[in-house]
Amino acid sequence: MKTKVAAGIDIGGTKIALALETLGGEKTARRRIPTRVEIGGAAATVENIALALEEMADQSDGEIISVGIGCPSPLDIENGLVMSPSNLRDWDRFPIVRFFEERFDVPVALDNDANAAALGEFVYGAGRGCRNIVYITVSTGIGGGIILGGELFHGVAASAGELGHTIVQPDGGARCGCGSIGCLETICAGTHIARRAKEKLKGGAASLMTEIAGNIDDVTAETVVEAVRRGDETAMEIWDETCRFLAIGIANIVTLLAPEKVIVGGGVAGAGELLFAPLKKLVPQFVSMIPADKIRIVPAELAAESGVCGALVLAKKAYRKKHQTYEV
Ligand SMILES: [Zn+2]
Repeated sequence: MKTKVAAGIDIGGTKIALALETLGGEKTARRRIPTRVEIGGAAATVENIALALEEMADQSDGEIISVGIGCPSPLDIENGLVMSPSNLRDWDRFPIVRFFEERFDVPVALDNDANAAALGEFVYGAGRGCRNIVYITVSTGIGGGIILGGELFHGVAASAGELGHTIVQPDGGARCGCGSIGCLETICAGTHIARRAKEKLKGGAASLMTEIAGNIDDVTAETVVEAVRRGDETAMEIWDETCRFLAIGIANIVTLLAPEKVIVGGGVAGAGELLFAPLKKLVPQFVSMIPADKIRIVPAELAAESGVCGALVLAKKAYRKKHQTYEV
């Protein structure tokens, strides 16, 4: 008899992570495939995903009993549609839930990628044992997921948790991709750390960053971090400002929700103690209503796997909902 497995799909702009897991929690297969948005659009990509999942199930003698999907926003979760995320342009109103429901004849759940990652960290990673967490991913952009009382908090139109678009610099801040001015993302996301560094360098600031990157246009957030490690003063100014504004963003959400943990993931969190030491020092300075020892800011534990782990949780929830069982 085949083993019943839940399937998790974490869709990114360049790569898709896939995993199968038994109801008992044993991961039986994992795979990464390219998104290849340039070839055939959404229909071709989901077909690739379905074929890969079928092959993974066959090889591990598993039977797929539900599917969970984490996907970049915006989504219409109620109707199971991918709208038109900036890194998946030709997916406009693609009915991803219906595709997998029909393909595998199983229940399917969809949520945005940051919510899926929050769920992954909550169940398998840094949020284990907690009831209330906030997950923040600081990467190309800044996303977030809020889990309260053990459940994802979606809010109106399933749009809660967009910490990156809270406004921290309304006067003189940069215009954000969302249309607002001075969003947290416009200072602290990887792309904007790089933008701010390039602006300083083009303004004539002396720095090791140009040498590290090769030329100014190739400076990235990683370049800034590397230069900070080497004691470069211009890079340190950029980084100090990044940490300060991120601390303000986190402090506001800590004051509002008083979570047991704030979990920080994404590429920029790869800076490690260079980021976490200042955050741990600064956030309590911006929080007056919660004792400092109750404010816990920790790195994500699952790195690139948080999204697909969360997608597995979504899949198991979908199975449980359909079968009204508490076995998973
Ligand atoms: Zn914004």
